Amino acid sequence: MRARRLAARWLIPVEGAPIEHGALLIGPEGRVQAVGPDSSVPRPSDVLAEDFGNAVILPGLINTHTHLELTGFAGEVQDLDFPAWIRRLRELKATRAPAEYLEAARQGLAACYGGGVTTIADTGDSGAVLQVLAESGGSGVAYQEVFGPHPEQAEPSLADLRDKVASQARWSCGRVRVGVSPHAPYSVSGPLFRAVAAWARSERLPLAVHIAESVAETELVGNGSGPFAEAWRARGIPLPRPSGLSPVAWLAEHGVLSDRTLCIHAVQLGPLDIDRLSESGAAVAHCPVSNQAHRHGTAPLEAMLGAGIRVGIGTDSEVSVGRLDMLAEANAARSLARLSAGAVIELCTLGGARAIGLGSDTGSLRVGKWGDCAVVRVREAGEESSPADMVLASSPTDLLLTCLGGRDVYRAL
Ligand SMILES: [Zn+2]
Repeated sequence: MRARRLAARWLIPVEGAPIEHGALLIGPEGRVQAVGPDSSVPRPSDVLAEDFGNAVILPGLINTHTHLELTGFAGEVQDLDFPAWIRRLRELKATRAPAEYLEAARQGLAACYGGGVTTIADTGDSGAVLQVLAESGGSGVAYQEVFGPHPEQAEPSLADLRDKVASQARWSCGRVRVGVSPHAPYSVSGPLFRAVAAWARSERLPLAVHIAESVAETELVGNGSGPFAEAWRARGIPLPRPSGLSPVAWLAEHGVLSDRTLCIHAVQLGPLDIDRLSESGAAVAHCPVSNQAHRHGTAPLEAMLGAGIRVGIGTDSEVSVGRLDMLAEANAARSLARLSAGAVIELCTLGGARAIGLGSDTGSLRVGKWGDCAVVRVREAGEESSPADMVLASSPTDLLLTCLGGRDVYRAL
């Protein structure tokens, strides 16, 4: 790859204040060689140089929760209560062949790039996203899902997971990592959670879990009641004794929380749960638009950030939210918590990178990190508007370029 130099009216490095008339030099190996005011960043004669004018260069966005294998199912599951929604989605997934999963993953990844995203944390069952990430030189963590609500399924489900992860090892290369995802407390038994968490720990694999998402999940875990409990009874799945625990406390009890754990959603949290997450070092993928779409309630974003929890922003699947739009998520997160535009941009970039263990490689524009960036055209704004405000006010059609390790992965025509 040729070295390249990007310049624009504004540059948001995230680590450090926004730079007016900023520039970025990315070396041939794809890492940032220099960043700063345009006048101070070298201009080697053999470098491809572009000036985007009235635009903002910012770090590539980190989407900490996707299901890209579900791309193409937008609008297919609607107006159902959450347990029925999950059931319908399971039926839909069964209709898709492996080649279709690969195609869906390719389209989903292209949609991410078209939204300024450079790194994803994806959970899925088919393995398609991992393969597509690896084949296309992408960046992220692909968490292999495992299911099994019946306690007797624990052993065979773990064996199946181990086989899948072993067969996927060849795709774990470059900037692509494999993780595991025991799906959720309404689809995975306590014994299976415990076994997968212990195995992931011994293999040093990252783990992602949908947790504390719906009230129905809280009812199932706490006192064995509610619509998930009814669904289990109908399927002949034995209900465990009521634990009296919150979903997060129940996860902790099963050894699932650690600094390699990504807790997806984390809406139904009490103060003790926030303390527990903070003490364990677990991170959170905050999905405000999905939480709203499913009427799960509001995640306590400010309290989580106040407790020092690593929080990133995720879109969830297009089945839940329609379009994968990180800036829409950013604006939704901002309306939930009293955050500045700069703080929200940080959540979508460095915050997300840290949440999935990639904070030393990406998430900010700093010398030595990967040259991952997005370039957004901005409109003339008032004096009081910061570059971060301008990015948040932009529309999806304002994205000019997405650059992954110095390579164009999206460019507006
Ligand atoms: Zn999800």
